[in-house]
Amino acid sequence: MRIDIITVLPELLESPLNYSIVKRAREKGLVEINIINLRDFTADKYKTVDDYAFGGGAGMVMMIEPVYKAIEKLKSERHYDEIIYTSPDGERFTQKMANILSLKNNIIILAGHYKGVDQRIREHLITREVSIGDYVLSGGEIPAAAITDSIVRLIPGAISDEQSALSDSFQDDLLAPPVYTRPADFNGWKVPDILLSGHAAEIDKWRHEQSLERTRKLRPDLSDDE
Ligand code: SAM
Repeated sequence: MRIDIITVLPELLESPLNYSIVKRAREKGLVEINIINLRDFTADKYKTVDDYAFGGGAGMVMMIEPVYKAIEKLKSERHYDEIIYTSPDGERFTQKMANILSLKNNIIILAGHYKGVDQRIREHLITREVSIGDYVLSGGEIPAAAITDSIVRLIPGAISDEQSALSDSFQDDLLAPPVYTRPADFNGWKVPDILLSGHAAEIDKWRHEQSLERTRKLRPDLSDDE
């Protein structure tokens, strides 16, 4: 899999995508992640990527030309399954979407900035607009990193124990059960007996019941999803 992230702030993406599971997946060759500096696609000496909004008003707008050039160059080199624009008004990002995207071969993520990108890019080049929640961040880099991380951990082989990703929250529309580690008794705070029993089938049953109970209590909406 290949993920190309177009950004005006490449430095913001270096650290989140260079540690832990994502780093190991890159090292194992399971995913190639490229951070593309939008300013490399500008023509002027100031490397300008923003301009005033037509019609006036506060805030700058990401210019059409550099974004167009960056996307067209990538598209001339390979086919892309999705060209994603991160935007607060996009489709809400979910584990379901992460699962779908983890099966793709090549993805571009355009991280927006300023007031956002010129609408014509969204209309003509973007295939999917994604929001990571109902709040506004300063730029699309953190959303791009969040989307990338959640996709990469689902690629088979990215996590050593594959079950670990499959038993995470939101897979099967359930929240994950509680987890415990040693010591079994910390100042009287005890681990449930069942987890110390050694009965694998009973433990699985208990975990499933805990998942159901947590989901019912904390996120009843999950079972209402289509
Ligand atoms: N004017 C835009 C609006 O009100 O919808 C917000 C622009 S925001 C300051 C700059 C960029 O950050 C956006 O273009 C988008 O790429 C990114 N961004 C901010 N919040 C986001 C969110 N919740 N999900 C995805 N991207 C977001």
